[in-house]
Amino acid sequence: MILDLRELIAGTVKTLPFVYDCSGEGLTDDLIDGSVHAEGRVENHAGYLVLNGEAVLSGVFRCARCCKEFEHALHFPMEYKLAEKLAGDDEEEFLLLKDGMLDVAETVREQLLTEMPIRFLCRSNCKGLCPKCGVDLNVERCSCDTKEIDPRWAALAGYFDEE
Ligand SMILES: [Zn+2]
Ligand SMILES: [Zn+2]
Repeated sequence: MILDLRELIAGTVKTLPFVYDCSGEGLTDDLIDGSVHAEGRVENHAGYLVLNGEAVLSGVFRCARCCKEFEHALHFPMEYKLAEKLAGDDEEEFLLLKDGMLDVAETVREQLLTEMPIRFLCRSNCKGLCPKCGVDLNVERCSCDTKEIDPRWAALAGYFDEE
């Protein structure tokens, strides 16, 4: 979705609202099915433009600990300064426009990918699955001895001992 900001730059209009919806596909492997809804506005602040808005990713995610599917919504605030030309050291601060056009789809996608959590949990204290028998420890307890060190870690521990 391309937003035409030329009237805003020319000063004919003061503010330009936008709404953008897309699928959540490809944003994170832990999203099973979801969509993105973004909305906001761009305003002319005498000399440069400011974009303010929010993108919401909602849908069904997979818990990193217990693998259960759960519904969740993530809010990503968006705030950018937009400029047609960059002056010196401003590069990090400004989002560059091309011919007065802003690619909203790309901007939203970048924002989501940058701020996306590394993993998702169905709840902050999810106990996960027993590494031995696989029961969901949120629902039931098992009698496995989980104190035993994972062989991969044991090998690593040996490695450090030799050092
Ligand atoms: Zn979980
Ligand atoms: Zn177990």
